[in-house]
Amino acid sequence: MKVIVLNSLSHSGSTVLSMVLSASQNAVSLGEVYQILRDKPSKWLENNESCSCGKSSESCEFWHPVLRHIQTHQIDDIADRYKYTLEQFTRIYGIHSTLIDTSKGDKHIDIYRRLNVTFKLIYLLRDVRSFAFSQSKVAARQNRKGLKKIKGKVWFQFLKWYFGNKKRLNKFERASIEYHKIGYEDFCFNQSDRLIELCDYVDIPFNAEYLSMINAEHHVLMGNPMRHQKDKQSAIKYDSSWLSDRRNAIPSALFPFITTYNKRHVYNK
Ligand SMILES: [Zn+2]
Repeated sequence: MKVIVLNSLSHSGSTVLSMVLSASQNAVSLGEVYQILRDKPSKWLENNESCSCGKSSESCEFWHPVLRHIQTHQIDDIADRYKYTLEQFTRIYGIHSTLIDTSKGDKHIDIYRRLNVTFKLIYLLRDVRSFAFSQSKVAARQNRKGLKKIKGKVWFQFLKWYFGNKKRLNKFERASIEYHKIGYEDFCFNQSDRLIELCDYVDIPFNAEYLSMINAEHHVLMGNPMRHQKDKQSAIKYDSSWLSDRRNAIPSALFPFITTYNKRHVYNK
């Protein structure tokens, strides 16, 4: 079994990219595995969450038996939970299968290393202006009080993006973890070229049809809501609504180092 770790900050396009890759033969995206496994299995089983395969957590062919097993055998350690999930994956999809993990944060990367599981790491960055636009919109909807109101500010999201990505990339360098970096916008506007490089890196045969996400196989219990909208899964449509947002002008001028970092890491090709 092969593991692809598709890592990024939240709202960076990892769900879309994981669905493209899961259209390749024998590849299955499991979404944010770490975020599912760190919770009590009952949270997923009893709330009857819906999985991107179209079934509920009570009948999903992958997550139901995994979560039930963890619950029945009272597996508490997250690394042990991961180990069981990987074993179950091989049992269901075979030794030539590819698991795609889009977990957020980086604790799962430490788990894979601890378990001695080799993985191919892809690091995805979204344009800071688009990131700040969508994150501040989400924060505004949540109607936060007090200090947390700051999350609705575009300048705050600029800093969060910069320090978040920098910290992650520094960690990979320090720990000598090999990775393939990709800008979400760069990918959207040069889909075939970037996909060829990506397939080459993760060692799966390239096929332009992956971009239509037809035959994509996924069990995403947690992640981007687009996972349930079948019509959106026929091609990658770039959401450019941030372009009309003027609020990024000031943080762009205030933090020129972020603008430079954005250009270098998102559009470096
Ligand atoms: Zn499922």
